[in-house]
Amino acid sequence: MSFYENTLKNMNKAAKVMKLDPEVLAVLSQPQKTLAVSLPVRMDNGKLQVFEGWRVQHSDVRGPFKGGVRYAPEVNMDEVKALATEMSFKCAVANIPYGGGKGAIRCNTKEMSPKEIERLTRRYVQGIYQIIGPEHDIPAPDMYTTPQIMAWFMDEYSKLSNEYRPGVVTGKPLEIGGSLGRGTATAQGGAYVLEGYAKHHKMNIKNAKIIVQGFGNAGSYAAEILHDMGATIVGISDSKVGIYNEKGIDPKEAGKTKKDKGSLDSVKGDKVTNEELLEKPCDFLVLAAMENQVTEKNMKNIKAKVILELANGPTSAEADEYLSGKGVDVIPDILANSGGVTVSYFEWVQNQAAYYWSEEEVGQKLHRAMTEALGHVLSIRDEFKCTLRQAAYILAFRRIGSAMKMRGII
Ligand code: NAD
Repeated sequence: MSFYENTLKNMNKAAKVMKLDPEVLAVLSQPQKTLAVSLPVRMDNGKLQVFEGWRVQHSDVRGPFKGGVRYAPEVNMDEVKALATEMSFKCAVANIPYGGGKGAIRCNTKEMSPKEIERLTRRYVQGIYQIIGPEHDIPAPDMYTTPQIMAWFMDEYSKLSNEYRPGVVTGKPLEIGGSLGRGTATAQGGAYVLEGYAKHHKMNIKNAKIIVQGFGNAGSYAAEILHDMGATIVGISDSKVGIYNEKGIDPKEAGKTKKDKGSLDSVKGDKVTNEELLEKPCDFLVLAAMENQVTEKNMKNIKAKVILELANGPTSAEADEYLSGKGVDVIPDILANSGGVTVSYFEWVQNQAAYYWSEEEVGQKLHRAMTEALGHVLSIRDEFKCTLRQAAYILAFRRIGSAMKMRGII
């Protein structure tokens, strides 16, 4: 099943549980607009390379399209459609006034120089310029895109529009309108959700054993924050290797090792494959790498008590159903990782007002937003006796559906 089919399956299941108006489901089952662009770039060796890029605008019923841009070698339109759709639901769950969108370029940044990545980014902005803007569609970072890339993005857009427009993109460096707290927002938001979930279920983060798959922006900060909250990080991984150590791993040291040596290889512990790591015993399994990691293939071997989805779409619909049936709660991506887009929204608000907040203020507002979103999802789960994912989708369907009715779309 493709990623997009999986997303539609999740939507259909929740729609059935809540007996959703079929017109709402019909509108949200298709993105509003999809744009494919071809991006010719002169590489450092003098040769021309033509890259493929996309921007998918799923829904702007509740506000401008919002969603990151992914630079990845395997990315395709199906994946971008799925991610754009999820963004509409995520923004509705977080109750921020945005719709959903997503963009991508098929490329391998590990094999490109910074100058090549800059030229590619500027070409992409030129390609999608007509359909983006601070009041229309606001991109952000995602896998393998960085604050520096967002800075080039904002610079190109500002040049083309002949205005200083920091609000066209979020996840920017602080010097040009980034927000304090944005770098750690996804991980911090996920930690607030896990903390609230644990409190509600009379579980403890302190002394809990946690495995984190994916040691990038979301995963490495999550490991650090949860470690600081008293948890023992027993496993971590990146695309090359997994490390398992029952005695605990210091995520800050692991981060330093990865930075200095380019790999987690020399972190103390047993070297395991990514597949093996997911099947090790733990209290909380944090999925922070990519989609389709817990599926029909390995769902029966998962020993975690709870899964937190910091990545988008890491659990297939079948695995989600199977694990929920076994009493393993999967805290869904559209709730668990919504801290990133929430602080992106705060960044945009600050850009539009040209007035900037302290890190403390950002943290307090993020805590309130995540706690409220979790509370709503938990109470819908009680109302419908459904999974957490279905509850999150139901919350979003209600919010988007009533906005559609108010606007006269249906
Ligand atoms: P990133 O590029 O910073 O990190 C990705 C990490 O995953 C890297 O360490 C990479 O080595 C690792 N990885 C890749 N394939 C792997 C595999 N098969 N097994 C284990 N590790 C693997 O990206 P990120 O921003 O941290 O995003 C990770 C996930 O979180 C993505 O699904 C993204 O959509 C989602 N997400 C990120 C944010 C954010 O603000 N960064 C917000 C919401 C959702």
